Amino acid sequence: MRSRLISGSEISASIYDELKGRIAALRSKGVTPGLGVVLVGEDPASQVYVRMKGKKCEELGMHSVTVVLPADTSEKELLKKVDELNKDDKIHGFLVQLPLPKHIDEDKIINAIDPRKDVDGFHPSNVGSMLIGKPLFLPATPAGVQQMLVRSNIETAGKHVVIVGRSNIVGKPIAAMLVQKGKGADATVTVVHSRTKDLADHTRRADILIVAMGRPRFITKDMIKDGAAVIDVGTNRIDDPASEKGSRLVGDVDFENVKEKTSAITPVPGGVGPMTICMLMSNTVMAAELSLL
Ligand code: NDP
Repeated sequence: MRSRLISGSEISASIYDELKGRIAALRSKGVTPGLGVVLVGEDPASQVYVRMKGKKCEELGMHSVTVVLPADTSEKELLKKVDELNKDDKIHGFLVQLPLPKHIDEDKIINAIDPRKDVDGFHPSNVGSMLIGKPLFLPATPAGVQQMLVRSNIETAGKHVVIVGRSNIVGKPIAAMLVQKGKGADATVTVVHSRTKDLADHTRRADILIVAMGRPRFITKDMIKDGAAVIDVGTNRIDDPASEKGSRLVGDVDFENVKEKTSAITPVPGGVGPMTICMLMSNTVMAAELSLL
């Protein structure tokens, strides 16, 4: 079967073009959309993500502030910073990069973010709004997955979508979004996880398989239905002595083998990754637009 490659790089480029028009309209009204990112500690992956976010803001003509705090920052100090950003008129949306050091209660920090500035969509109020089908900010990775389906004309209505993974930031919100009524949703959704019996029996029934496990190349050809569409959220760094860096990124799907059985598939890198950052930018632009209402 000839499989179509769903490129997150291409889809995000067309969304950025749309965002540029909205940013120009905001700027003509004297508003420059502003994103704040708070990083606590020196987690190398987080540092990379934070840099990418700042760079993207710059490219789009948005304002961005990165706050870097030492790993031993107290919960109280971090709450104070969150409060400052809640009150900062130049910052329309902000996020605290996760994971946080163990001595800080992540829930407490997320709960302290003003839901109208919560561009990650992790505040319980935004999670609840999404669940009842009246979203304010959708979480970036799930929103990116949904946009990839919509913009690649992959019909979800009446389709059986199987999601592997039930995390609060990926698996669960994707399930909640695809089960809603409306465009890019109306799906019949199954969520599977590490306690599921006979995982492959479920994945083989999927018209659309969405994988977010964090297990390099776990999903193999025998676990896929002929003609399924596969979205691979997984981002895993594995050793690769042949590459310059000594390592490379792979997804949770064994791409080369699985691809020939699918009707459409996302690559890693260049798939869901670029969509995630794009959806964060889109939420920030929306937050700036909301500030004018
Ligand atoms: P979590 O570790 O929070 O969740 C992983 C989920 O996969 C859990 O629900 C777990 O089940 C399930 N799982 C793990 N192993 C198995 C198994 N052998 N069989 C069945 N289910 C299994 O990860 P995240 O959701 O945060 O992230 C998932 C992946 O997506 C990671 O690779 C991450 O790097 C990537 N990611 C990529 C993003 C992007 O922008 N492209 C953004 C966010 C994440 P259980 O709940 O039972 O433990």
